Amino acid sequence: MPPKNPINKAMKSHSVSHASESKIASNSQNTIDLLFEGVIKFKEENFLAYKELFENLKEGQNPHTLFVGCADSRVVPNLITNTLPGELFVVRNIANIVPPYRAADEYLATTSAIEYALEELKVENIIICGHSHCGGCAALYEESHFVNMPNVRNWLKLIEPVKTQVLSLNPKTTTMRAYLTEQINIERQIMNLFTYPKVKEKYLARTLNLYGWHYIIESGEVYNYDFKKHEFNLLKG
Ligand SMILES: [Zn+2]
Repeated sequence: MPPKNPINKAMKSHSVSHASESKIASNSQNTIDLLFEGVIKFKEENFLAYKELFENLKEGQNPHTLFVGCADSRVVPNLITNTLPGELFVVRNIANIVPPYRAADEYLATTSAIEYALEELKVENIIICGHSHCGGCAALYEESHFVNMPNVRNWLKLIEPVKTQVLSLNPKTTTMRAYLTEQINIERQIMNLFTYPKVKEKYLARTLNLYGWHYIIESGEVYNYDFKKHEFNLLKG
């Protein structure tokens, strides 16, 4: 049996070499060198440890879970769930947003990924994973910052109602405001999932489970959404 998670192993070996390479990584040329080295290291070490798994995966994927996460570089789905390649179908975007379902002539990346996960891959679970210190959620309160990013500004309009809801709760501190924004955003994205006809059908037939997670970057903790109590509770063993 190979060790459980190649990504954990990769993270460890990266962190060992990272200290000595941190100066090098400070300019972009050497940053790309690090990535090239990483590719070779992966092939020579982690890939070999999981050769059989990758060999089997060439036949196709059968992921059990659709993971909708933020594009933030600090949120690494396979790492925080201790899962292997082939287990998670992942779609990531700024602020882990699920746009309301519609069929359109536009190029709908997130909507099409969700559609594919349901229709073709027939996933059993969907996790909406938000996180602490989310720049996308914080951006709701600093619109001027995005004056040169019309597409980002437009994308975040999808979660404008979150801001309204949070402000109505009158949070006392900016930390509290941030947590509320991130958690209410997760709740709202779960609600948006129900605009997808297949989600509603499968959820009612109890063949699809939905989860909302709030991942805390600095502690590694995940708070799981309780649908009945409308609150997030720490996942613990
Ligand atoms: Zn984020």
